[in-house]
Amino acid sequence: MTRDPATAPVVHLSDRDLSDTDVARLIRNERMFRARFDAARLPQLVVCFDGVIHEVNDAFCRLLSRRRTDLVGSNVHELRHASEPPSLGNPIMRRFRKHDSSTWERVLAKSDGTAVPVLFHATRVPDVDGDDVLAVFVQDLSELKEARETLLRREALHAAMERHASEWGLLIHAAERRAYVGYASTAVHTALGCDADEIIARGVDELIHPDDLERAEATFSKVLDDDNGEDWITTRVRHANGSWRWVEFCVSNCTKQKHIGAVLVIGRDVTSRVEADLALRASEARFRAMVHTAQEGLAVISRETGRTTFANEKLTEILGRSLDEIYSTTILELLDKKDEAFLLDRLDRRASIGTETYELSYRHPDGQPRFLRITSSPLDEGDGTISSLAMVSDITAEHAAEEQLRRQALYDELTGIPNKALLRDRLEHALERAERSDNRAVAVLFADLDQFKLVNDSFGHAAGDELLRQVAERLQAVVRNGDTVARFGGDEFVVVAEDTGEDAAREMAERVLATFAEPFVLDSQRAYVSASIGVVSAPAGTADDLLRFADAAMYDAKRRGRSRVQTFDPRIVESSSSSLQLSNDLREALENDDLELHYQPVVDLQTGRISGVEALARWTHPSRGQVPPSEFVAVAESMGLAHRLDEWVLRRACADIPQLRSAIGPDIRVSVNISARHLNDADLHQRVVGALASAGVGGATLMLEITETALMGDPDHARTMIEGLRSHGVRIAIDDFGTGYSSLSYLSRLPVDTLKIDRSFIENLTHQQDAMAIAASVVDLARGLRLNTVAEGVETEEQARLLHRLGCPQAQGWLWSRALPVGELVATVHSLPGGYFRRAIERPQRTPRPDRRGIVTAEHGLHEIVRLHREGASPATIAAALNAEGYRTPEEQKWHRATVVRVMNDSAYPELFGAPSDRAAQASDVDRRLAER
Ligand code: C2E
Ligand code: CA
Ligand code: CA
Repeated sequence: MTRDPATAPVVHLSDRDLSDTDVARLIRNERMFRARFDAARLPQLVVCFDGVIHEVNDAFCRLLSRRRTDLVGSNVHELRHASEPPSLGNPIMRRFRKHDSSTWERVLAKSDGTAVPVLFHATRVPDVDGDDVLAVFVQDLSELKEARETLLRREALHAAMERHASEWGLLIHAAERRAYVGYASTAVHTALGCDADEIIARGVDELIHPDDLERAEATFSKVLDDDNGEDWITTRVRHANGSWRWVEFCVSNCTKQKHIGAVLVIGRDVTSRVEADLALRASEARFRAMVHTAQEGLAVISRETGRTTFANEKLTEILGRSLDEIYSTTILELLDKKDEAFLLDRLDRRASIGTETYELSYRHPDGQPRFLRITSSPLDEGDGTISSLAMVSDITAEHAAEEQLRRQALYDELTGIPNKALLRDRLEHALERAERSDNRAVAVLFADLDQFKLVNDSFGHAAGDELLRQVAERLQAVVRNGDTVARFGGDEFVVVAEDTGEDAAREMAERVLATFAEPFVLDSQRAYVSASIGVVSAPAGTADDLLRFADAAMYDAKRRGRSRVQTFDPRIVESSSSSLQLSNDLREALENDDLELHYQPVVDLQTGRISGVEALARWTHPSRGQVPPSEFVAVAESMGLAHRLDEWVLRRACADIPQLRSAIGPDIRVSVNISARHLNDADLHQRVVGALASAGVGGATLMLEITETALMGDPDHARTMIEGLRSHGVRIAIDDFGTGYSSLSYLSRLPVDTLKIDRSFIENLTHQQDAMAIAASVVDLARGLRLNTVAEGVETEEQARLLHRLGCPQAQGWLWSRALPVGELVATVHSLPGGYFRRAIERPQRTPRPDRRGIVTAEHGLHEIVRLHREGASPATIAAALNAEGYRTPEEQKWHRATVVRVMNDSAYPELFGAPSDRAAQASDVDRRLAER
């Protein structure tokens, strides 16, 4: 037991035994011991077992801020702080019953009541008078307590931080060969999905990705080489779920630190950053590869200097310059001078403009011009500057092809002169210019070769082509510089001449016409070809109008005998200004599909069956209301819209064919009227075939009605056209038959199927002998030519019956139905018993057998034959009487006994049969009326 001087054994001696020296020594000792006791830094006191204080030192007084005099004699228990429980009995006695020393803690109170935690360390000391006392050392625990508090606080903070920090820590002991984990913070759990114990159990090698292990070990030993070594490393670490997390470690050598003695490793999960980084790196690599293998040239151009800061291989190829050249010059020096201002502006404003594509020409070092397509986008350099990223492709070939296409789109391949599209464009511009400059007139010449077909047919197509080329040349030779000569299509040519009044235009047309006086040499043969030219000169209007007017004038020229110039007279149009207006409205209506197509059934007279329908256009004008077809068809013809009207009808009708067939019958025939003007159009064939094709129907259902006059206008052409159409199964009817002057020889050669007896004859059928005679002869003629006949405009049963008796197989008219919209027609058909109309013929009739050589009418003396026959005159007498009266047979011959007999036996003249008077009484109304004539 180490003994402090204050606790040194006290020698127990009686005073008597003491010599003076002894006493003096004792006194010296006592003083020395007291001085030491008093001066000791450690608070001390001496107490009796009952707690009464014998002595205290200064340190103790200071500790409790009390005076010695207050303390000595007081009881130590009274020094207790209020927080201490009062002790029962004598606690001191209890402590020293068995031991000579004891240590315990107490909280004492200062004079002002503040608490002073202390540790009592008491030792029993025998006193001179035999009563033992306690020598007590007091240790002030306030500081210690504070230190402990601080430690606890720190520990708590550490624990909290450890729990909440995303970074996690390991202590790794650097044992001989293997590093093993000695400590792992709880954050490991969140980071790696396993708790600290598992980590400790698994060890470092198991945590780190095998591929990263070597690197990790190198870092580890490098850190260990230096007492203060520290390094960073990022490796993959295995997560409990088997995945790998990227962790950034800070490895610090703390082996020499007293309380650590290991390598401290702080880890941080950087997976997302590393992955983003890797992705970025991969994409950068990809882009780098793309840039260098790109089929487009790439350049990054600095806004500040105009220099190329990056270029790829392809760009050097496109520009024909080395990378050095590209880098050492500005983009402005490389490209055309004329684009400089544009490029500077773009370079400057690239950020605000964004991405755009433009085309520039470029002079390649090989001397050939190139065209470049450049797509420029702003490129953020990442340092606050915006450069231009230019993608460059060489579109020289594309350009050439486009140019070629443009030429093809605008020029006629055969003749090399402008085509319809370019013509229209030029005409439109000419009209604009004319309007700007005092409305100076623009002239349009429309020339159509006469009988071009003949050349084709007799010399062959190659010769036809050659003719067209020569015509183009001749036309170009006679017009002024600046006038446009264009091929309008087929054998049609158009000249547009600016600033040309009507007289000048006419003169020009005459000059054109004159060039046709010379023969054309085709295949070393001479061919005389003429042209019909229509001329119009107008200060304004649309290109379309002028072309139509010129075309109409040309058509007029043709009608007036070909090989001539015809001027379109605007006064005619103006005088009937409504027809100009109407033609504009009609054009619009056609474009907007505002017309309607109605269908009138064609009925079999024998059975009442519907054998076909005729399509008839209907137009309700927005302000004028219903416009009669005769009117708008005429307008279409004179204003060059006929082909458009027909095309519209064709398409509409073909589209309706499936519905009509399923409602009426699969073998019905749908008739469409083709305007006379359209027949000469080379495109008619194509329009018909196109309409059939786009509706997906075959040609056999379609019948085209062409008027007799139109057919006879150019019968050769008509025949070719019809033959072409028939090859698609399309049939042809001659419309309004009887109103024209058909040449029978032509008619017999035309491959037509049906004759339609004009309505005017039917109208007068029952009260005009001529009409009846014509109807009869048409039917007869048709039968002879093995053609079908359709009678138009049948309004009464009487007409129907008579027609039937004449042998006309089919008819149409209001007696059965007006032309109806397809839906109404279908409904009408459905309402008919069995889908058939009532037969016009109620009782079987003798089949009429008309005289092959013509119908005998009143004109030929039919009523005389009837009257004389009833009076019982012989055929010879009747013939003589007729000849005496000046009557002749339909064949313009004198009557003969035989011809009279034939008439009397002909069932077509029922009034001549049987007993004259009885039969007359039995004759029908029709018969009677016939007899009266
Ligand atoms: P079209 O080809 O001779 O047509 C027959 C005309 O007779 C039609 O007149 C028809 O409605 C009418 N009609 C039919 N049955 C009767 C009847 O019982 N009594 C009377 N009084 N008339 C009857 P619409 O429709 O007025 O047509 C007149 C002419 O206009 C047609 O004569 C035809 O030449 C032309 N047309 C009509 N539609 C077209 C069309 O789509 N294209 C062309 N190019 N011309 C058409
Ligand atoms: Ca017709
Ligand atoms: Ca007709």
